[in-house]
Amino acid sequence: MRPVINAQSWVTVRGGSLLAPEVLDAMNEAATCFVNMEELNLAAGKVVAACMTGTDPMSIEMLPDTKGLRDEVLMFKGQRNHYDSMFELSGGNIVEYGGVKDTEPYQLEAAITDRTCCVAVVNGPFIPVGLHIDEIIRIAHERNVPVILDAAAEVPPIANLTSFIDQGVDMVAFSGGKGIRGPQNTGLLAGRAELVQAAYENMISFGKPRAGVGRPFKVSKENIVGLVTAIELFLDIDQEAVWADWRRSGGYIFDRLKGIPHLRIVMEDGDPNRAGPQPVIYFEPGWDGPKADEIRQLLEKGDPPIYVGNGGYRDELNIVMVNVQPGEEVIIADRLEEILLR
Ligand SMILES: *Cc1c(COP(=O)(O)O)cnc(C)c1O
Repeated sequence: MRPVINAQSWVTVRGGSLLAPEVLDAMNEAATCFVNMEELNLAAGKVVAACMTGTDPMSIEMLPDTKGLRDEVLMFKGQRNHYDSMFELSGGNIVEYGGVKDTEPYQLEAAITDRTCCVAVVNGPFIPVGLHIDEIIRIAHERNVPVILDAAAEVPPIANLTSFIDQGVDMVAFSGGKGIRGPQNTGLLAGRAELVQAAYENMISFGKPRAGVGRPFKVSKENIVGLVTAIELFLDIDQEAVWADWRRSGGYIFDRLKGIPHLRIVMEDGDPNRAGPQPVIYFEPGWDGPKADEIRQLLEKGDPPIYVGNGGYRDELNIVMVNVQPGEEVIIADRLEEILLR
């Protein structure tokens, strides 16, 4: 296998993120001994199945059979996404409210029934927001329904680790292997203690007669230790310095490509839909060179293969800097220059 340049983001198809030496050291050390895994999980975590079963052992044992349980996961139609099949995997049924682009409070209100186990919300780049999160929380909580949030790729900034919970979201999920730079097969659940406990019991089922629906998602001691170490490092990061770095390397690509007729290159900075400062190439009406998809294909076929972002608001080529390693900005600029000026 040959390594590729990842200017696409923390996506699983390109390997997520890179583990820091400290994380690898912690994982190596964890791989040399046995531990009580229940204690390790509790020590590490003090972190949808949870909304359906709570901590009731009979319900946990039953899943994914949800007979008699509240099993409806409400989602704004505009937020249906690649990952929402995970709700169904544990026995949940997705019930949509609203339209493809917009929704009104009464539509969520009408969708809540005594079968509703939670309202699920996803925060992600270029995913329509629908109702404001405060409004969703108000409507759901008035009816005793928890709100769970998929914020997998929403850190950094570090503040987001707590900000959604401060807003009133009941439980939020973050990827361990994206911006936090822990092992790819880890994640974090945070929020109301009883929901986190319920999720834990659905996952672990130590000492129970039957393993729960979370068993296929078990996390090894090496990965738990790696995630905790990555979080500790992440909390100490100087985010401004990291962004300054991306501004410098992204700015290099910008400088090399600016001025090509009928292309508008912008150093995007501060757009909440984008993972940090990054150069974006927009195509003006007079452009008659290769189209965005064609350029992507040429980049991917090169040596080394280069992957860039999937686009954003419209036709564009976004070069996501989060995983671009020192020096790779030169290779990316060389390749793009070759393709765009040919
Ligand atoms: C990446 C992502 C996921 C999946 O997270 P993994 O840690 O890769 O399993 C889920 N939801 C959203 C919005 C994501 O961006």
